[in-house]
Amino acid sequence: MSSGRTALARHIVRLIEETGPIPLSQYMALALGHLEHGYYMTRDPLGMRGDFITAPEISQMFGELIGLWLADSWMAQGAPKSFVLAELGPGRGTLMSDALRAMRAVPDMVAAAEVHFVETSPVLRKAQKDLVPQAIWHDRIDSLPDRPLFLVANEFFDAMPIIQYQRTGRGWCERQIGLTDGRLSPVLAPVPLAGDKGLPPAMRDAPSGAIAEICPAATAIAETISSRISASGGAALIVDYGHLRSAPGDTLQALRGHQYVDPFDTPGEADLTAHVDFEMLALAVRDGGAQAHGPVEQGAFLAALGIEARAARLREKATGSQARDIDAALRRLTAPGEMGSLFKVLAVTPQGAAAPAGFV
Ligand code: SAH
Repeated sequence: MSSGRTALARHIVRLIEETGPIPLSQYMALALGHLEHGYYMTRDPLGMRGDFITAPEISQMFGELIGLWLADSWMAQGAPKSFVLAELGPGRGTLMSDALRAMRAVPDMVAAAEVHFVETSPVLRKAQKDLVPQAIWHDRIDSLPDRPLFLVANEFFDAMPIIQYQRTGRGWCERQIGLTDGRLSPVLAPVPLAGDKGLPPAMRDAPSGAIAEICPAATAIAETISSRISASGGAALIVDYGHLRSAPGDTLQALRGHQYVDPFDTPGEADLTAHVDFEMLALAVRDGGAQAHGPVEQGAFLAALGIEARAARLREKATGSQARDIDAALRRLTAPGEMGSLFKVLAVTPQGAAAPAGFV
């Protein structure tokens, strides 16, 4: 029976046999971050030959426009002479490298920037070092230095471990990971939560059977970003797939070789993500003392930043087949039904700052 199991699945099955069902957050954290077998610890998952592809890998336009957004926000705050330019989960470093190239158009900005990456994957750290050799790496956001903070996170929050609850006749019961006929699968905790404290307010009226998700790690990180920007100045841009408002539903998904697979079949071998609840992120930003702007859809955001004009510029120097690639990338990043409406963008600024570009 265990012959088809991944090494990590065997480890998790043993853990559950010894201790009982585990929280989904622990399952996700192990599947993605286990030091030996975790998905991100062992591979570069990006690109055509990997498991998924992200906006900065689709086109240089994405990172360039984000670079210009950061430059605009930096100037709006009086162009601080020394600041932290940070990225959470920088993947191959493509976004930051494209952003830095675009920022060179702004006098003195790159010289004032100290680049910091929050990244746990040794494989991706290596790729990042090739593209952005001057970066300084951190395991966690807490060790970023205390200075004005200009930060971007693209497809980072979706990798943060979630917890699920299901509404039953007894109340909200945690949906943990246990064993059913020897296989990893969701099981309901016997004892319900006392009430619905901690769940998104929108869950109060959810019907029986509804699933509520929370992401304590995402909330804590959003609050940290917010309190730093509130105290020292700066701006942040959070881009991810997810919903504008909290809503019930199971959004855990697993991708392997660009195909959806069962999230419990091959832990460590498939990317596990959940949709980001932007309403909860915005609440966490408010709790941290800064101001949240948006969320807005990625298509509208990129259009407001001038992606059409940038594509036209690139087309001028392109061959016929390159021009078709530029058009395809533009469509993928902005069209509704593609990343344009699935992905949302949330910005963070100090209280009282003007709405940043793309959020007016
Ligand atoms: N932003 C990149 C990569 C997205 S994939 C892009 O858009 O292409 C998710 C990234 O987050 C990877 O770099 C992964 O290694 C990193 N990551 C995942 N979990 C993390 C964690 N707990 N702490 C720090 N980095 C993490």
